[in-house]
Amino acid sequence: MTNTHVLPVIELSLCIRCGACAAACPEHALAMDIESDTPFFAKPEACTYCTECEAVCPQNAIQCPLTITWGTQE
Ligand code: SF4
Ligand code: SF4
Repeated sequence: MTNTHVLPVIELSLCIRCGACAAACPEHALAMDIESDTPFFAKPEACTYCTECEAVCPQNAIQCPLTITWGTQE
């Protein structure tokens, strides 16, 4: 079985290592790597694509480029 999972995109060249994204992630999917001091997906399967991390990033370093909508098919 193939399991595909959509994740936000982190542009590390813009990241100032503030940790706001990891702190804001309600699912703890994002965390800060202790050694490199950069955000990474510690639990990618837990991401609900809520876009909280994108909203709090002061650098616009995180993008959730996909729009997910739920509805009935006609
Ligand atoms: S989209 Fe939501 S759940 Fe996924 S990493 Fe960002 S804050 Fe966490
Ligand atoms: S909120 Fe943005 S700038 Fe701060 S650690 Fe996360 S990606 Fe980097």
